[in-house]
Order: sequence, then structure tokens, then C-alpha cells
Amino acid sequence: MRICRFNGGRLGAVTEDGVVDVSHVLATLPETRYPFPRHDILIANLPHLRSDLERAAATGDARPVAGVTLESPVANPGKLVAAPVNYRKHLEEVRDQAEIHHGNAAHARQIHETGLFLKATSSLIGPGEPIRLRMPDRRSDHEIELAVVIGRPASNVSAGDALRHVAGYAIGLDMTLRGPEERSFRKSIDSYSVLGPWLVTADEIPDPATLGFQLSVNGVPRQSAHTRDLVLSVPELIALASSFYTLHPGDVIFTGTPEGVGPVVPGDTIRARFDGIGEMTVVVEAAAPPDQLEI
Ligand code: MN
Repeated sequence: MRICRFNGGRLGAVTEDGVVDVSHVLATLPETRYPFPRHDILIANLPHLRSDLERAAATGDARPVAGVTLESPVANPGKLVAAPVNYRKHLEEVRDQAEIHHGNAAHARQIHETGLFLKATSSLIGPGEPIRLRMPDRRSDHEIELAVVIGRPASNVSAGDALRHVAGYAIGLDMTLRGPEERSFRKSIDSYSVLGPWLVTADEIPDPATLGFQLSVNGVPRQSAHTRDLVLSVPELIALASSFYTLHPGDVIFTGTPEGVGPVVPGDTIRARFDGIGEMTVVVEAAAPPDQLEI
């Protein structure tokens, strides 16, 4: 099943005919009060809602996908976990290009040594919102990645059990300001984490190592790769992450980008597609100058 969020918090089921508004099913979610749980309520309850969602999807009216504004399919992730260099050819590219590693040798180390990092959840947007570049005199790069959404709590799970903890998959863009600061700081700028176009539930993708994917900018191909070439596979990433902290429903793992990263500038249009998931188009704008930013 394909589940999206759109037009200001509506819940949608994506069918062959388009997006069906299934928001009324949200009324069956358990009521939550302060202090709120660390997980995303919808993702945590997806198994209970599944039959209601499927019934609503089969009976409602569909509208064209192009006519809705897609938001992040996960509204309230507790963590955005991300893998640094996790494709071998991207590692070579980082080592070879000073403008990527910026003299920081740690950026070119293998994932086995560096482990994972976190991105601020406030950086998360959906494909219907623009990426807003800050630091206009510096380079911001696109990174297309398979994004894994956790469905069941995972702590110290083995790679063999890891996929049982996955709710589904989406396309992730791990946008990155290049420069000398800490990785998590540069990648946590508002709008620098894009998730979309929808969540494809895990039953539709039994093996996440089987997906080809591509990214283009203004129609020019930039990245083209396959998840079989991940250094640490999806199950291994979940095992690694959960050996340090509990993964909660709605937590998102950005699994790392392949070779071909490159800069984007305001006015660019990014198109990203993944086998088994779909495709999304995201526009790039300049953020408002600092004195106009809403604080
Ligand atoms: Mn990345």
C-alpha cells in the first residue's frame, strides 16, 4: 500500500487512479495527551489501521497526484538517522574531490569506522515544498538515498530480524551544505531533508537491495545507482543503529547516497525516482535573507 500526506495534513492512499483522501481513518487513532510519545502515532498504528485504510482507498474518489501538494509521509519522526558514505564509488568520489571533503579526512572514512549521524527533525519536508538554500555563496549538494521508515521498536536487533521492524520505504533527499562544520549541522538546515513522494509499505518491497534509482537536475542525469551496491545493507544499518539506540516507529534511516552528488542552485528542479516507490519532483529556491527568516 502507498500512503501519502497532502494539502495541509490530509492522509491519502495512492492508487492507480490517483490520491484518495482517507483522512477520516485518522479518527480511529488512540488519543494522545502530553507528554506525547517519542514515536509517530500514525506509523506506530499502521498495522491496526491497515484494513480500514484499504477499504477507504477502494471506495473513495481519486484525484490526480499532480493536483495535490505532497508533504512528508511521516509527520513526526523521533529521529532522522543517516548513513555517511555507504556506496564504495561515492567514497572514492569524496576522497578525490576536495570541494566535497573540504580537507576533513574524517569525511572520507568508511562507514564501519564512523558509524551513523543524526539530522534535525526540523529539516524534514515533503516534495511539494521547496528546498530553500541557505548560505548562497557556498555549495549545497543533492544526495538521493533510499529512506527506511521504522514500524516497530528496534533495540539490539540482528540483521536477520531487522526487516521485520520496517514499516516501509520512501525516497530521501539528504541535502548537504559543503564546508568544514560538523556533518549533522550542515545537513540539518530547514528543508534539507526531503521524504516522499509517499510511504510504500514493506510488504511491497520484500528485499530493499533490489532497487535501481536515479536523480536528475533540470533534466540532466546526475546520479544513477542500485541498492545492491550499499556497503552496509538495510538490515545491517538497522542492526548497527539499534545497537546504540532504540529505533521507534516513524524514525527514518537515510541509507546513504551513491556517486554523482553535485550542486544545486535556486531555480533548479530535482527529479528523483526509485524502482518500487515512484518518482518526485522538488524545486530549489533561495531561503529568505537572515533578517527576514521567521524565528
Ligand atoms: Mn547522505
